[in-house]
Amino acid sequence: MSPRIALIAHDDEKPEMIEFVQKHEQILSEFDLVGTGTTGQRIIEETDLSVERKKSGPIGGDAQIAAEVAEEQMDAIVFLRDPLTAQPHEPDISALLRICDVHDIPLATTRSSAEYIIHGIARDAGLDAV
Ligand code: PGA
Repeated sequence: MSPRIALIAHDDEKPEMIEFVQKHEQILSEFDLVGTGTTGQRIIEETDLSVERKKSGPIGGDAQIAAEVAEEQMDAIVFLRDPLTAQPHEPDISALLRICDVHDIPLATTRSSAEYIIHGIARDAGLDAV
């Protein structure tokens, strides 16, 4: 089974997320990708990757992804947060971070940590693209 990873980016960080997925498109094409609504839509439009889109973050997308973490269906999360802007769904964001801690699921909140995580996961899964 392909590693299942979630991609989430706040509005300010979406350009960074697009650059990240474009740079790593080959390796990510071997993953089962999930995204919050708008992040997922932009990745679909700007790459050849397919992404299972959840709801947009502010209306429950982070909570849906947290639920998958709790069900142990998620292998990693890349969550590029805007560190300078308050978000209306802060409680959902905190819950997602917490549930990743509870279940020991790798969570990257920066692009460089995301690169380590996707390469580590691909290596552990024995994928060719590493
Ligand atoms: P979005 O949600 O991808 O739908 O913008 C991200 C978030 O704000 O958590």
